[in-house]
Amino acid sequence: MIIQFNKGLMIGLSALLCVSCVTPPISQPQPTTQPTITPDKDEKPQTRPLPTISVPTTPSTTEPKPPVLPTAPVPEPAYPSPVKPSVRPTEPVSPPEPISPPSIPETKPKPPPSPSPALRVPASLVSLRKTTAVPGGVAWVPLGIQSAIPPKIKYKQRRVLVLHHGQQWVALVGIPLSAKVGQHSIVNKETGKRYTFKVKAKKYKAQYIKLKNKRHVNPTSKDLKRIRRERKLMRSAFASPWRISSTSPLPLTQPVRGRLSSPFGLRRYFNGQPRNPHTGLDIAVPQGTPIAAAASGKVVKTGHYFYTGKTVMIDHGQKVVTLYGHLNTIAVSAGQRVKRGQKIGTVGKTGRATGPHLHWSVSLNQTLIDPKLIMQ
Ligand SMILES: [Zn+2]
Repeated sequence: MIIQFNKGLMIGLSALLCVSCVTPPISQPQPTTQPTITPDKDEKPQTRPLPTISVPTTPSTTEPKPPVLPTAPVPEPAYPSPVKPSVRPTEPVSPPEPISPPSIPETKPKPPPSPSPALRVPASLVSLRKTTAVPGGVAWVPLGIQSAIPPKIKYKQRRVLVLHHGQQWVALVGIPLSAKVGQHSIVNKETGKRYTFKVKAKKYKAQYIKLKNKRHVNPTSKDLKRIRRERKLMRSAFASPWRISSTSPLPLTQPVRGRLSSPFGLRRYFNGQPRNPHTGLDIAVPQGTPIAAAASGKVVKTGHYFYTGKTVMIDHGQKVVTLYGHLNTIAVSAGQRVKRGQKIGTVGKTGRATGPHLHWSVSLNQTLIDPKLIMQ
């Protein structure tokens, strides 16, 4: 009896279903792939004028701090001297103006680079601000940071999506279905500052499913081996290296239009046996319906897996990864770049599926969350 039950639990850790629950620390090679991230020193760049040259005209007379004081004359910066530029490009000859200061764009203090528009919270998702943080949901955590460069925030050792809203950065934290109710925190890796947020309880509905294929309920030991292997592959895809895309990953576009047949979070019973909850959104549409990429990105994995059948996984940047399961055909391959809306395959019923539908999973910070929360 007990063995049977344990085995059941193991099965429950299906490749798809358990990614959010079983989460050994995943090494994240962030430093190598973050061209834009620099130490977070520029919290107040807007007001800073051009580097004022602090010429040590009055060196502190009292304290002899020998090595530190700059002795060499401060080199003139590369700003144009007040000397007029010799060439005035294509201006027609005009009466000599008395002294109109030459246009010297370089001397204007450069406004601080503002965050790329791709990094703003899209208008359709601002409502997340008022959404309760629940297991399987998303926490909106304002960071009070105004830098042009996104801060490096982690939740449970995993890098978190940050977007700009108003005058500050906001962390959008994916909360695992297994999260405990209560206080949680994220940390700014550069300053060590912690931010807390509260996770409240959410009771998801139960779903009872009858499966003809008994192996989909109680896989053989050979199946289990395969499931474990596939689970690892998928986990590594969800942990794709951090990168910031030039286009916003959010909001996500629903990949097919149709009836939402099974919501995210359902507590599932297959042939009466409890299994892990449903970590995606099912959309029931006829076999062969084209599936569109939920946002632009890079295909990180394709395969034919035990539970999700023919599957495509796309990395959209900032650890936003989507998974499309039970496909009939796959139209893309790993490494390929795709645009939002591009066809990536067709709907099918491969893997553990009772009929044609798309199983769509969405991961933020390597955590599967309810896709409805961040889709258009
Ligand atoms: Zn599903």
